[in-house]
Amino acid sequence: MGKLFGTDGVRGITNKELTPELVLRLAKAIGTFFGKGAKILVGRDVRAGGDMFTKIVEAGLLSVNVEVFDGGMAATPALQYAVKTLGYDGGVIVTASHNPAPYNGIKVVDKDGIEIRREKENEIEDIFFSERFNTAEWSSLANEVKKEDRVISNYVNGILSHVDIEKIRKKNYRVLIDPANSVGTLSTPLVARALGCKVYTINGNLDPLFPAREPEPTFDSLKETAEVAKTLKVDLGVAHDGDADRAIFIDSEGRVQWGDRSATLLSYWASVKNPKANKKVITAVSSSSLVEEYLSKYSIEVEWTKVGSVDIAHKVADENALAGFEENGGFMYPPHQYVRDGAMSFALMLELMANENVSSAELFDRLPKYYLVKTKVNLKPGMVVEEIYKRVLETYSSSAVKVITIDGVKVIGKDYWFLVRKSGTEPIIRIMAEAKDESTANNLVNELKRVVEGK
Ligand code: MG
Repeated sequence: MGKLFGTDGVRGITNKELTPELVLRLAKAIGTFFGKGAKILVGRDVRAGGDMFTKIVEAGLLSVNVEVFDGGMAATPALQYAVKTLGYDGGVIVTASHNPAPYNGIKVVDKDGIEIRREKENEIEDIFFSERFNTAEWSSLANEVKKEDRVISNYVNGILSHVDIEKIRKKNYRVLIDPANSVGTLSTPLVARALGCKVYTINGNLDPLFPAREPEPTFDSLKETAEVAKTLKVDLGVAHDGDADRAIFIDSEGRVQWGDRSATLLSYWASVKNPKANKKVITAVSSSSLVEEYLSKYSIEVEWTKVGSVDIAHKVADENALAGFEENGGFMYPPHQYVRDGAMSFALMLELMANENVSSAELFDRLPKYYLVKTKVNLKPGMVVEEIYKRVLETYSSSAVKVITIDGVKVIGKDYWFLVRKSGTEPIIRIMAEAKDESTANNLVNELKRVVEGK
């Protein structure tokens, strides 16, 4: 049987890999899976093809006897929150998140707002390939798509209910928001204004072609945004990906702060706000070991998992964890919802700044400083991934403080850590390493490269 779902939904280049025909069949399979009479919310991000695919998804769902509601354009976490709180049985989101502009995708969420579990993806694939669709009688097709217009207000109010609005308002913060010309622009500025901020936006108009920067926030793609933040001397900058479930922060010195650093601060803050929660955070092996180094001071345990936000979200829910996150800026705050949420992360960061009465730069300076170096090695014929991992383990495990092998090989040393891991999408081995000074990090990566190549 073929495979449709990748690490987070079905993705492909619009009208080439992700075709109208495929999406129609997929929508019929999704609707058949949820069953007759299920109430399904459909929404989308700004991408080209979004309008076309939304209409196809809605038609496909109607054709298999599902009750369809259109939530319009909104941030993915806003749609997920609507599914969870407005009484839906599930949702379909037309989005390709952070992928380059030509891509689009289909994400399926369950009743609780979390992306459906792997077993359920398999069931949908099964229906898709066997074409066992729950085709409706003609008379059921008297039903029409209904409008759901509460998605954004419901989401903004949900976020505001978790922070001390008055405490933040008193600070009169000045903030810069970069929604990458996509759906984050529909909600994050509303959250900021409700919190009394003076709001500046960059790339704040909706544009399906992403004219200003790629939909993925990276050090490179945020250079201009960071410059603007510095020039405007804002208290905090925040940049989203294409569907606004990620938040990458720019501090008051204009420095882009990577997601595992901000998530470490937010995890600490979550433990202060929720003293009764399980003192554990869940993150992927690709996060920095500074997470553990910093949070252990507050007796917060770190559980390392495989890379992939969907598995992290389910683990956070199953284990009643304090928080979950990925290093790319996706942070999950369970009292609000179990999925990554860019605007929620932003509101929490403002609340932490207000509570501690410090600037965002001072907050980030509390974290240990590491230098990150990344590289990759192309997998040539004859190179066996398991043998590479074995060589890395043999070379480094005796000097390690901790070795984690659930997804590649992660080695944590006294003042360094590294991860050697096969990419999930390309025939390459990714190497990332951090150390307390730049030359140690560079030397470590060069040495690792030789070990991976077997030289
Ligand atoms: Mg995303």
